Amino acid sequence: MTVRAGREFLAIPGPTNMPDEVLRAMHRPALDIYSQQMVNLTDSLISDLSKLFATKGKSYIYIANGHGAWEAVLSNVLSRGDKVLVLESGRFAIGWGDAARAMGADVEVLKGDWRRAIRPDKVEARLRADKEHAIKAILAVQVDTASGAYNDIEAIGRAIKASGHPALFMVDTVASLGCMPFEMDKWGIDVAMSGSQKGLMTPPGLGFVAANHRAQAVHKKAGLRTPYWDWTEREGVEHYRRYAGTAPIHLLFALRQAIDMLFEEGLDNVFARHRLLGEAVRRAVAVWAEGQVQGQVLGFNIAEPGERSNTVTTVLMSGDHDPARLHRYCKEKCGVVLGVGIGELQGQAFRIAHMGHINAPMILGTLGVIEVGLNALGIPHGKGGTEAAITWLGESVRA
Ligand SMILES: *Cc1c(COP(=O)(O)O)cnc(C)c1O
Repeated sequence: MTVRAGREFLAIPGPTNMPDEVLRAMHRPALDIYSQQMVNLTDSLISDLSKLFATKGKSYIYIANGHGAWEAVLSNVLSRGDKVLVLESGRFAIGWGDAARAMGADVEVLKGDWRRAIRPDKVEARLRADKEHAIKAILAVQVDTASGAYNDIEAIGRAIKASGHPALFMVDTVASLGCMPFEMDKWGIDVAMSGSQKGLMTPPGLGFVAANHRAQAVHKKAGLRTPYWDWTEREGVEHYRRYAGTAPIHLLFALRQAIDMLFEEGLDNVFARHRLLGEAVRRAVAVWAEGQVQGQVLGFNIAEPGERSNTVTTVLMSGDHDPARLHRYCKEKCGVVLGVGIGELQGQAFRIAHMGHINAPMILGTLGVIEVGLNALGIPHGKGGTEAAITWLGESVRA
């Protein structure tokens, strides 16, 4: 017996649900890659990506996932042996640092923990201690998709500035661009990267990088440059060089449609929608975590409420209860796919994504299905989580 049918709903933090308009935008023949239409499409996307990153710097489009875009950033500004400081807040900055190490960088991790965001004061102290300016680049994520941490990139940018340290500040926005404010130039970020398949509602396969003039200057002397990722190679007059080969035409059609939809809704509205729906999820999780008689089974991974992301919520599940059972129930019985715990939280958590193409019925439906699963599996939880989300939305979304 199941109550699933039709489209499976992805509540995983990437790839995310795509609007029908984005899917339809790809259902057409390829363009002549030498046509003016092709050039215009690329120019419009590169300029709109810089708008999304909020930079006057240049943007680049790669046929790659987030891991590829990480490598694009590193290879363009680093030389073998350069020291890189990774700011830990879960899994993803560490992964970026691992790539840097494999490429020949000397990687130091500024210890954080899986339940907290990065502490800007610690960043400032570490940079002040680096009197010789050995550190060449600082890597951080805006949202860590594994822990659910939201890092205050603006505050970290201020801390770096206060330390007077010249290292490049490089930020991963894969799980946040197009979902929450990001101000590359205002916040003192030199390089930012992202991917197509999360907040940007586009199929996996495109990686984005933006670089300011400081990064471009460092790039000129970088020793790890390779032909595919190289910014300079992509500056040639022929359109062909923008992609170091054939353009990913259909993904570009999809991205064009997705960005048009974001701009049409208005970025402020898009950010508010994520804030409201993210908070709805947190209201539900807070209730599930309450009023449990024998020890707490469910709870937030991120301890500080202000450090919880508006795009993904990581819910710890402890005791004898296996999150895999809940995951299986929601998927197989109800057609909702939750994110699983990854990294240190493997087998101990589930994740609810609330990023990209999401709306009230999707989020309330997901919360409702989780509650169905908690009840069906006899997993202890405070009653009325979905109700709390509904009440809060009713109070917050004014008539
Ligand atoms: C998903 C994700 C990545 C990796 O992206 P892939 O496309 O899977 O390679 C990197 N950083 C963050 C913050 C992510 O959420």
